[in-house]
Amino acid sequence: MPKALKKFGQHWLRSEKALSKVVAAAELTTGDRVLEIGPGTGILTRQLLPLAESVIAVEIDRDLCEILTKKLGKIENFLLLQGDFLTLDLNALLQPFPKFQNPNKVVANIPYNITGPILEKLLGTIARPNPRPFEAIVLLVQREVAHRLTAKPGSTQFGALSVRVQYLAECQFICEVPAKAFQPPPKVDSAVVRLHPRPIDVPAQDPCQMETLIKLGFSSKRKMLRNNLKSLIDSDQLSHLLEQLNVNPQSRAEDLSVENWVALSNEFDAFLLATGSRQN
Ligand code: SAH
Repeated sequence: MPKALKKFGQHWLRSEKALSKVVAAAELTTGDRVLEIGPGTGILTRQLLPLAESVIAVEIDRDLCEILTKKLGKIENFLLLQGDFLTLDLNALLQPFPKFQNPNKVVANIPYNITGPILEKLLGTIARPNPRPFEAIVLLVQREVAHRLTAKPGSTQFGALSVRVQYLAECQFICEVPAKAFQPPPKVDSAVVRLHPRPIDVPAQDPCQMETLIKLGFSSKRKMLRNNLKSLIDSDQLSHLLEQLNVNPQSRAEDLSVENWVALSNEFDAFLLATGSRQN
C-alpha cells in the first residue's frame, strides 16, 4: 500500500462492506460510462470496470498514476487521466477517446478537503447549472457534509449548501461509513450520498439574485432572515413578502424550503421593480 499523502487527502478505502455499498448505490448497467475522481490505488476502480461500459479515472498523484497504469493499464474500458480534476477540461481531454466521452455517472471516494469545489464542478451553480448534467453522482463524503446535503428544511443542518445543491439535484443519504473503513482513518466519519441532478420544477427568474439572497440569508445562523437581509430590504417589507409566501416572518434562513427560496427570490424581483430600485 503506498504511503498516504495528506496534501492530496488520501485515505484508502479498505472495507469490503463500504465498497459494495458505494458500488450498489451507483446502480450500474453495462451502458454506463463512469467518471471516478481520485482512484488512488484502484480499489474502487477494479469493482467498477466489469460493471460499466467504461471508466475514466482522474488522479492528481503522478506516482499513483504509475502504479495504476501497471495494475489496470491493459484493461480496455479503462482510461486514466493524470491531473487536477478541478482545473482540467474533461471534454477537451476526452476528444480523442470516443468510447469514454460524455460519462453519465460519477462514482468516487473523493478528497474531503475539496468536496465543495468538486460538487460545484459536477453540478454547476444555481446561476450556471452544468449544461450536461450527470444521471447520478455517488460520493463518499464527510458524514456531516452528507447530512447537510440531504437535510430537510427546518433542521439545523439545512444550510446554504443544502439549498444550493438541492436546487440542482435530488440528494439521498445512502449509509454511514465509519472512519476505520479507511487506511489511514480520517479524523471524521464518512457517509455515502447519491445525487440525481434534475432541473427544478419552477426555476428562479433571476438565479444570481437567489444566490445573493441565500448567501446573505444564511450569513448569521442565529438571526432571523429579515435581520440577515436588512442591507437589501427593510425588515418590515421583507416580513410582508414572507407573509405573502405563507412563510412565518420570524423564520430563520434554515426554515425556508428550496421552493420558498425560489419564491422569495421571484417576489423580491417584483418588489424591486415595483419600488423602482431595479430597471428591467
Ligand atoms: N478512491 C481511492 C482513494 C481515495 S483518497 C480509495 O477509495 O481508496 C482520494 C484520492 O483523490 C487520492 O488518490 C488523491 O490522490 C486523489 N486526489 C486528490 N486531489 C485530487 C484532485 N484535485 N484531482 C484528482 N484527484 C485528486
